[in-house]
Amino acid sequence: MKISQEQVFERAKQASLWAGNLIEGHLGHQHKLENRTPIDNSLIGYIEDGDAEDIDAAVLVARNTFNQGTWRDLSPQERKIVMLKWAELISKHSEELAALDCIDAGKPISECLNTDLPATVETFYWYAEAIDKLFGKIAPTSQQELGLIIHEPIGVVGAVLPWNFPAQMFAWKVAPALAVGNSVIVKPAELTSLSAFRLVELAYEAGVPKGALSLVCGLGEKVGEALGRHHDVDVVSFTGSTDVGRLFLKYSAESNLKEIVLECGGKSPQVVFEDADIDAAIPHILAAAFWNMSENCSCGSRLIVHEKVKQSLLTQLVTALKDWKVGDPRLADVAIGPMVEQAHFEKVRSFLDITIKEGGRLVAGGNIHHDIGSGWYIEPTIFDDVTSQMSLFKHEVFGPILAVTSFKTDDEAIALANDTQYGLAASFYSQNIHRALHVARCINAGTVSVNGFSEGNITTPFGGFRQSGFGGKDNGLEAFEQYTQTKVIWFIHQ
Ligand code: NAD
Repeated sequence: MKISQEQVFERAKQASLWAGNLIEGHLGHQHKLENRTPIDNSLIGYIEDGDAEDIDAAVLVARNTFNQGTWRDLSPQERKIVMLKWAELISKHSEELAALDCIDAGKPISECLNTDLPATVETFYWYAEAIDKLFGKIAPTSQQELGLIIHEPIGVVGAVLPWNFPAQMFAWKVAPALAVGNSVIVKPAELTSLSAFRLVELAYEAGVPKGALSLVCGLGEKVGEALGRHHDVDVVSFTGSTDVGRLFLKYSAESNLKEIVLECGGKSPQVVFEDADIDAAIPHILAAAFWNMSENCSCGSRLIVHEKVKQSLLTQLVTALKDWKVGDPRLADVAIGPMVEQAHFEKVRSFLDITIKEGGRLVAGGNIHHDIGSGWYIEPTIFDDVTSQMSLFKHEVFGPILAVTSFKTDDEAIALANDTQYGLAASFYSQNIHRALHVARCINAGTVSVNGFSEGNITTPFGGFRQSGFGGKDNGLEAFEQYTQTKVIWFIHQ
């Protein structure tokens, strides 16, 4: 799908550039936060500056709706019809939602249109279609007993979202949580609330009861913390940084021991063995490293290459990288937009200096494009000679800087790949099936892709090991486990 720069502006203008709270029966308050686009740092609108009182109101409505059964007690088929209608509306409004994510997060419009929104729509259809195909179990008992194992919605679910894939992360959490009958309160990232606002409006249009789905916009330390500490929230499903994930565990421990599901950061390895098909690997390696300006949890930010093929691989990567145009993300041919905000830009930029100081060798990029818009545009950058002791090897940068490290033996490659506190994703390249199976089993990550970069698809569970998160998975039928609890009903024949 192609959309011109003017069309992006137009779509965004047609859409609401205000993201306020959507809580049944409650008028929003007047406190507003400025919303600036990272494209040129201009003011594009406002979001509501929500607070703990808004969360109290949203939880009360959510709990009442759950207890009254307004949504929960509909048959799966009835909920499915509403969810399908919602999916259809999202599909119809795809260009508008893509434009909102583009201007709100600085994401390339081509990615929003061709990847994020199709995946968002697919997620809603998939969970809508799945809900009337979920079965419980019957325990193997004697004739005198009957044991039913059933899965019930948990109750009030808080969905706390990051800014890097605003519409898609909304879909990953809200679609399965709502589909099984919970009441859901969404807290979008303060940097990117626009598409969440429109998605909730479309939900109401489709027939989702207002009490079953609320939106509370605002700052993490106000709205996010209030949700995490609320005594009547049953589960918080969080996607974001490991540091904030840690806080949610604390909020839960200090309140009602609500279930916490964490999808956090990563420092994913890409390993290239000497028998890899290098030509075929190049586009995958670059996509893993630089897709979405590397503001991607599964970003393959550590390239671990056999020393025999490193030089030729680097030469090809540097050549192919020239096609990755840096610029205004509203333009259809741009692959690298701005960093999402100035503070994040400064953090990413600091890694350029740190890596040079620590001994990394710059082989591509390294420039800031001060001449474009906000000036928060960083060229896709590759550093060679990065050792496992260096900051670039250890820390999640969340910006377009790739670390290259070489190895001699398979054991060394596996040790380097696993030398991280994270374990979200990994990819590796080899044409030897025995090596592929062995390495796939040895790599400590929730998703391991072979001869390509992939997070799997809607049918496969996504989530990490170690400090990349735990407590449940997004995607696949497994996502339902986050949002349901297992009950046994035991009949005794008298
Ligand atoms: P973040 O942790 O700063 O924010 C995530 C959410 O938490 C936002 O809604 C924010 O408002 C809220 N928040 C912030 N501070 C809070 C506080 N003190 N108390 C309560 N809530 C608070 O993350 P981000 O910068 O929006 O997103 C980037 C991070 O998300 C990266 O680390 C990335 O790896 C991770 N991520 C992980 C996945 C995954 O599936 N594993 C997917 C996307 C992003």
